[in-house]
Amino acid sequence: VKIKKQQDDHKTTIAFGNTSIGGGKFAIIAGPCAVENEEQIFMTAKLIQNLGTVFMRGGTFKPRTIPYSFQGLGVDGLYLLGRARQKYNLIVNTEVMSTDMVELAANHVDILQIGSRNMQNFDLLKKVGKTSTPVILKRGLAATIQEWLGAAEYIMNEGNQNVILCERGIRTFEKYTRNTLDLSAVLAVKQISHLPVIVDPSHGTGRTDMILPMAKAAMAIGADGIMVEVHPNPGQALSDGEQSLTFEQFENLTGEVARLKKVF
Ligand code: PEP
Ligand code: MN
Repeated sequence: VKIKKQQDDHKTTIAFGNTSIGGGKFAIIAGPCAVENEEQIFMTAKLIQNLGTVFMRGGTFKPRTIPYSFQGLGVDGLYLLGRARQKYNLIVNTEVMSTDMVELAANHVDILQIGSRNMQNFDLLKKVGKTSTPVILKRGLAATIQEWLGAAEYIMNEGNQNVILCERGIRTFEKYTRNTLDLSAVLAVKQISHLPVIVDPSHGTGRTDMILPMAKAAMAIGADGIMVEVHPNPGQALSDGEQSLTFEQFENLTGEVARLKKVF
């Protein structure tokens, strides 16, 4: 694979108003795995605003392993995200799974996420590449670094240079954790590519007890931020409750990140 545009010297910074992903900042993107209802997403948005962390995630088209699991609210969830974004003045990220929904999603949120399972859905990559909306490109569950960067190239080739890479763990033989969070890959793509790289310790480990330590590790190796799942009541979450932080745990995480910013 010939990686073309990723070899220049400059580093890409993706600006959002007066903040950015890349450019020396450490972004914290937080929110539920799935948007479930108005109360849940508004409560979470309010917490994020109060803590001053600005970026919110929330899935509304959910790529579930089994068709009987909660599939997300779909378009209704997009409208809820759009309203929470307005009301709490947040920068919002949601996953798109089909080319049909790209335009509509881009009208309601600020960042489009390509999920791990769709990392090599080339039609979807080209479609988001034709927008100017920033894209979080998650690493495929079993993707090599070359394949991941090749997927980024599909987006950039269509004109959209606003790509953020996200390491979210890979499939290995190990079962103690949900995935194996590959922090060395973060270093590798930082060396090879000019794109910002964030880490998702929630999907990367599948365990709330490992999120804070892995978030610290991500900071220590120079990642440009983290994305974590937070839920007002993880025990009742419709997806990924076992890896979702409580509000209290999330507040603690933001405090630790602020403290460590002075160290790293
Ligand atoms: C998600 O972020 O909600 C998600 C489904 O993650 P991944 O694509 O990394 O599994
Ligand atoms: Mn999830």
